[in-house]
Amino acid sequence: MPDRRPRIVLAESFDASAMEKLRAVGNVVTLDACDESNLKAAVAECDALLVRTRSRVSREVLECAPKLRVIGRGGTGLDNIDVEAARERGVAVVYTPGASTDAVADLTVGMMIALLRNFVGCDHMVREGKFREARDSAYAREMSALTLGIIGMGRIGRAVARRCRNGFHMSVVYNDIVSPGLLDFAATPLSKAQLFGQADIISLHVPLNESTRNLIDAEALKQFKKDSLLINTSRGGTIDSLALASALKSGALAAAALDVFDPEPLPASHPLMDAPNTLFTPHIGSRSIHGLARMNDVVDDVIRVLQGLPPLQPAWTD
Ligand code: NAD
Repeated sequence: MPDRRPRIVLAESFDASAMEKLRAVGNVVTLDACDESNLKAAVAECDALLVRTRSRVSREVLECAPKLRVIGRGGTGLDNIDVEAARERGVAVVYTPGASTDAVADLTVGMMIALLRNFVGCDHMVREGKFREARDSAYAREMSALTLGIIGMGRIGRAVARRCRNGFHMSVVYNDIVSPGLLDFAATPLSKAQLFGQADIISLHVPLNESTRNLIDAEALKQFKKDSLLINTSRGGTIDSLALASALKSGALAAAALDVFDPEPLPASHPLMDAPNTLFTPHIGSRSIHGLARMNDVVDDVIRVLQGLPPLQPAWTD
């Protein structure tokens, strides 16, 4: 008798309990690699595809998946999925939008303090026996004296702003293309140009799309205060990385902390790699134990779609 259980392809890893739930409803196939050619071959007969950040579910991949009913993205950004193409083909897309809000907000605030106090530079100097030089050169600015500029006052932007306003007594200004509604902390909306000119720390929390690609380019950087700090825990493509490297090298910007890059990983020869006053982390924003656990919940929504139920966290609502 033919096996009519749905075929579920896991392009990236999900935890054991998520796998168990999926095995209860379908035949689960796990991939060793999620490059485009592997994905294309794997989706040919599949009903559900689960991905995290590394898989690119392009229109071309979708064209190889005639039976696909649902894509589950464990995570927040949907820039690695051609959502429009999925929608055209009647393929549901579900994800876990709030799963990593606290994890990314914690990292963002940590990056601010690390830049202001130069943790990494001090660590290196202490290990090199330059204890006194490190101590004598350490004149930090305090968070409470600074203005934070948030671009994208969505879930993560609000979580960062709340921490910085309520916890560190910073002034908060922000820019968004839609009103965030009533905020439970003090914050002033500004145009992007006003924000660039007023903020001491600019933190990006926008999705990557056509309106945000290279949002921070050479023109924008010229409008920043000279001693400002730039933090990016959103997506690498929101910053023109060559312009950022030049601004750091010329001293037009004091420092930058980046969790995300374009491309990822950044090649060793990229000009940002030897730019001064930088702090890099390898796209770890969402990688807390709690955040990763919440991303596994996407399997519940995938199963709902396979069972003909409406998803709880769809990428769009009609
Ligand atoms: P969200 O949708 O809640 O918030 C995004 C906000 O950006 C929205 O309020 C939106 O209106 C605003 N926005 C969109 N275009 C804009 C523009 N051109 N100018 C100003 N504002 C604009 O999303 P979120 O949950 O806060 O996540 C934000 C992004 O963070 C995600 O899209 C993802 O790319 C990134 N992210 C990164 C990590 C990581 O590991 N570093 C983890 C999770 C999310």
